Amino acid sequence: MIRAVACDNSHDASLAARLRARIARDGPINIETFMEACLTDAAFGAYTSRQPVGAQGDFITAPEISQIFGELLGLWSVAVWQSIGEPGAITMAELGPGRGTLTKDALRAWRGVPKFPERVSVALIETSPVMAEVQRKTLEESRVPLGWYAALDAVPEGPLIVLANEFVDALPIRQFVRRGVAWRERLVTTDNKGGFVLVEGPASQPELTDLGDAVAEGAILETRPALDGLLREFARRASRDPLAALIIDYGHAEFGFGDTLQAVRRHRFADPLTNPGNADLTAHVDFAELTRRAAALGLTTHGPLSQGEFLLKLGIGERRERLIKSATPAQGEAIASGVTRLIDPRQMGMLFKVLALTSFGLASPPPFGPANFTLSS
Ligand code: SAH
Repeated sequence: MIRAVACDNSHDASLAARLRARIARDGPINIETFMEACLTDAAFGAYTSRQPVGAQGDFITAPEISQIFGELLGLWSVAVWQSIGEPGAITMAELGPGRGTLTKDALRAWRGVPKFPERVSVALIETSPVMAEVQRKTLEESRVPLGWYAALDAVPEGPLIVLANEFVDALPIRQFVRRGVAWRERLVTTDNKGGFVLVEGPASQPELTDLGDAVAEGAILETRPALDGLLREFARRASRDPLAALIIDYGHAEFGFGDTLQAVRRHRFADPLTNPGNADLTAHVDFAELTRRAAALGLTTHGPLSQGEFLLKLGIGERRERLIKSATPAQGEAIASGVTRLIDPRQMGMLFKVLALTSFGLASPPPFGPANFTLSS
């Protein structure tokens, strides 16, 4: 993933000044509070004050690299709908839709599918009014009903498909550090030059005690509180109606300690504490923990698979060849290199993982279920 946010000093001063005032008043803030302000502060957040996604923007995501990505996820949604008996109404919710490109490509793939386009409504879950406006433009020709919501809770009840590409990595994290036999929380405070620095403060997270005492001194543990609310909402819905969610993000499949908070600005890694609101802050998704929590809430988990394996099994190779046949040589090269970027283990193919969560009793969605499943279009 390449992410960078253009520098704008007026923003720096405002958000930094407000954070400094808050710290002077209330004391150090945790990383979750800091990250939330940097990304979604109503006036100066990296997503709320500008449009950072896409080739012309600040960071590139899979749907912006290849149209096949959204098309395959669109057809995946059709396969899920078929596997639950083709209900007369179903919602496809995209979490954090960026420029709306994934949904746009899914809509194109649905055109050739009988019945589904008349049964599906799309819910776009977006906090940023700036991004929602971009999505409205991208999707203005949709023949499928579209609705925008600030959170999944507001989406009407019923059978639900959820797609979340590079959404979870932007949910704020907390960091804890092992000191002796206890944990301390890493907090953000100011230094005497007005910059931001990390300090350690008291931590009282009961869930941290699950890890036992055999943890190395100085080990860093990351948690993502907002994810719990999201999984609970999945589980609540899954207890009433069929649900299938696909979470695609960069991260690790095995549990691990370590500091993964990263800021990228102008296509370069930057210090996460410098320039609040002007760098994109994300952290790796811990798929082991995600899977454990989802299962504890009664959801059935499938995978994770690496993004490369997932896309290959869904037939990205065949679709690439089909597209190239009707393209000019230059377009063909662009199509091939886009696909390579998504599946090559040295690029996004291995670092990115795909996890499916379903309500109890649903057939395993492709390609997690029986082999040789082909998506029809
Ligand atoms: N999925 C898109 C964009 C990823 S960037 C793509 O693949 O291109 C993250 C997106 O999530 C942005 O649209 C951002 O505005 C949105 N977002 C970030 N935090 C959010 C939150 N808490 N709730 C809803 N949307 C959020």
